[in-house]
Amino acid sequence: MIGTTPKPFEEISHALKGYEKVAVIGCDGCAKVCMTGGSDQVSQMVEKLKENSKNVVFALSPERTCYVDKTKAALDPLMDKLKSAQAVLVLGCGGAVQITRQVLENYGLTIPVKVGLDSVGHIDTLIMGELAIEQCQECGECILNETGGICPVTKCAKSLLNGPCGGAQNGKCEVDSERDCAWILIYNRMIALGESDKLRRFMAPKDYSKMAKPRRLNIKERRVE
Ligand code: SF4
Ligand code: SF4
Repeated sequence: MIGTTPKPFEEISHALKGYEKVAVIGCDGCAKVCMTGGSDQVSQMVEKLKENSKNVVFALSPERTCYVDKTKAALDPLMDKLKSAQAVLVLGCGGAVQITRQVLENYGLTIPVKVGLDSVGHIDTLIMGELAIEQCQECGECILNETGGICPVTKCAKSLLNGPCGGAQNGKCEVDSERDCAWILIYNRMIALGESDKLRRFMAPKDYSKMAKPRRLNIKERRVE
C-alpha cells in the first residue's frame, strides 16, 4: 500500500488559485485505507471547496486511481463535465496524480492536475484506521532471508547491512529513541531461530542500479528494466 497524508487545505487552496471550476478525483484503493482520499474524504473536500467558492463539476473515487484502465473507465462517461473543468484535484498518491494527468492527455485535454496528498512510501497496515508502518523500500534485491525476516534497509535509520552502528541504547535506535534498533531485533530473531552464525557473513553492498528511477517492471518477463 502507498501511504499518504493530507496536504494542509491552505496549500491545496493555493494550488487551485485562479481555477473556479474544479473536478475532484480520489482513490478507493490505498488512499481510502489511509483515510485521505476515499469517497468520504472526497465528499469532505467537495464541501470545503464549495465553502471556498469553487464550482465542483464532479467528484468521484475510482477503485484504484493508479490503475489506468479503471481511471479511464470511471472518467469516460464524464467527458463533457471533464472538459468544463479548469483544474483537477487528485486525492491520491503521486502515481494516481500522474496516471490522471496521463489519461487527460490521452483524451487531448490539457487541464492542470493538482495533488491534494503527500505520498510517504510503501507501508503496510498494522491496525486498520489507526496505524501503518513502512516495511519495505522495494530495493530490488531482498535480503530478508539473511536477516530473520526483518529489513535493515527500511528499519535501521542508517540502512546498515552488516550489523549495528553501536549507538543503540536500551535496545533503542540512537537516531530516534522511540524506535527499536533494527539490528538488535535482527540479532534477537536470529538467536531465536538458532541461525545467529549467519550474521557472521559479510553482506555485499547493494546493487543500487536495481533502484535506479524510474523503475519499470516487465511483468511478462518478470524482470526490472
Ligand atoms: S531488503 Fe528490505 S527494502 Fe529490500 S526488498 Fe527486502 S524488505 Fe524490501
Ligand atoms: S541504533 Fe540500530 S537502528 Fe539505529 S542507526 Fe544504529 S544500527 Fe541502525
